[in-house]
Amino acid sequence: MSVQHDPVQRADFDQVMVPNYSPAAFVPVRGLGSRVWDQSGRELVDFAGGIAVNVLGHCHPALVKALTEQANTLWHVSNVFTNEPTLRLAKKLVDATFADRVFFCNSGAEANEAAFKLARRVAHDRFGPEKYEIISAINSFHGRTLFTVSVGGQPKYSDGFGPKIQGITHVPYNDLDALKAAISDKTCAVVLEPIQGESGVLPAQQAYLEGARKLCDEHNALLIFDEVQSGMGRTGDLFAYMHHNVVPDILSSAKSLGGGFPIAAMLTTDDLAKHLAVGTHGTTYGGNPLACAVGEAVMDVINTPAVLDGVKAKHEQFKTRLQAIGEKYGIFGEIRGRGLLIGCQLVGAWVGKAKTVLDAAAAEGVMVLQASPDVVRFAPSLVVEDVDINEGLDRFERAVAKLVQG
Ligand code: PLP
Repeated sequence: MSVQHDPVQRADFDQVMVPNYSPAAFVPVRGLGSRVWDQSGRELVDFAGGIAVNVLGHCHPALVKALTEQANTLWHVSNVFTNEPTLRLAKKLVDATFADRVFFCNSGAEANEAAFKLARRVAHDRFGPEKYEIISAINSFHGRTLFTVSVGGQPKYSDGFGPKIQGITHVPYNDLDALKAAISDKTCAVVLEPIQGESGVLPAQQAYLEGARKLCDEHNALLIFDEVQSGMGRTGDLFAYMHHNVVPDILSSAKSLGGGFPIAAMLTTDDLAKHLAVGTHGTTYGGNPLACAVGEAVMDVINTPAVLDGVKAKHEQFKTRLQAIGEKYGIFGEIRGRGLLIGCQLVGAWVGKAKTVLDAAAAEGVMVLQASPDVVRFAPSLVVEDVDINEGLDRFERAVAKLVQG
């Protein structure tokens, strides 16, 4: 028997929620695959994927099965005890990556927080208290805790909250000379997104990542890859570092890792992990059985050649069509990104109008994202079907046509 809930609507948001978000005018109530339905029963194609989270769309049977089985078994025990789903997922992540050790938490920001704390602790233990500086990229995004907004290269997210975390330098992304000039023996870590997601879907150049690795090694600094957005199959490789063959010392994962269930992980090596000894760091929910059971099912489905190769093929489908739309309506310049993380650079009169485009798209029945005011972003399910790709892009084209025609 289903529970009878009190009716709520979008207007309630403005009454009872902290106004730090500005959600769309409609309220999604149900999802299946790459389709979502709102309160009025209107159906939309979902190319937003909950901001690169719904890696297998909505209500994927393998994830529903894992979650419901675990829901009937064991929900939570805390880290005073370990649990089987945690250990199984950790083993799968270790087997599939450079890492020997995993720390589970609940959000991308927490995974990065753990990564930054680990980097500082390692440097402190090995080289003393003077080696604490972290270098990150201008316009990077690493989360919303005070440490992660301080490391993130966007003052609009870090200003106005009192003193920031000290010892952080921001350098232009993809500029190896700038990194070379900034790094020193006081640097404990360099933090990079292999693709800058939030600030426009900007991929790192191969030589930049290789150069960063070399500079870190020369200065006894750790290389941290924030793969919160680029990881877990999003780019057509399990993690983006695999495509570049540049191996980090620490990697953060979240978003797609749980396919919509909150979970995140920090991955690292044996040598580094030992610096987070008992009591140095932790979280109540990290490694929660429900989250890890879902994460394990996500891993099982996506870490297969069929899904990962499919992501690369679907990229081409999106890119070809988006390029055609861009040319026909004069709205897009570069279409960039890898796999199913795609950014369309707005040009001409459309610069700064990504929100207008995504509102128009939603009105036409397709959910897309922005990545800065100048870039329309697509982050659909990795198993989005042809029929949904075609229908969603038809709707998107209609939205663009209406916008252009005024
Ligand atoms: N790092 C990157 C690269 C992200 O894209 C995000 C979220 O967009 C985060 C970190 C923060 O993740 P969360 O919102 O789960 O804390």
